[in-house]
Amino acid sequence: MPKKRKNRGRHKGDKGKEPMVYCDNCGKLVPRSKAVRVTVPYSPVPADLARELEKQGAIVPRYYVTKTYCINCAIYLGILKVRAEDERKRKVTITRAPVRREGTTIPPVTKPAQSQLPPPTQPGSQEAQTKS
Ligand SMILES: [Zn+2]
Repeated sequence: MPKKRKNRGRHKGDKGKEPMVYCDNCGKLVPRSKAVRVTVPYSPVPADLARELEKQGAIVPRYYVTKTYCINCAIYLGILKVRAEDERKRKVTITRAPVRREGTTIPPVTKPAQSQLPPPTQPGSQEAQTKS
């Protein structure tokens, strides 16, 4: 029987049964090997405000949140893409989840430049900045 994908859309192998997980976006129940898991940085501070604060030397906390999506939601959110027949056979590694905004196109996946990271700050100067 011809296969659409080499791994049949899963990474279960010949394991048999496996637990089901819920999609974090729509709540659908999907097998764990079929679900798409992405770890995205999350900050309680808005991005533009965080940039301003880091410029002044404050350390803005960044938490990593792991999300589980079904295939429909992963494609809708731009984590996975519909691929051509010959491209479908190779394995893809999910590096990050692009942010989807209304009315904008999703930019291509690029690694953040090292120069964008804020320089290390001294603990003494940080306290003075946060008080003001
Ligand atoms: Zn879903």
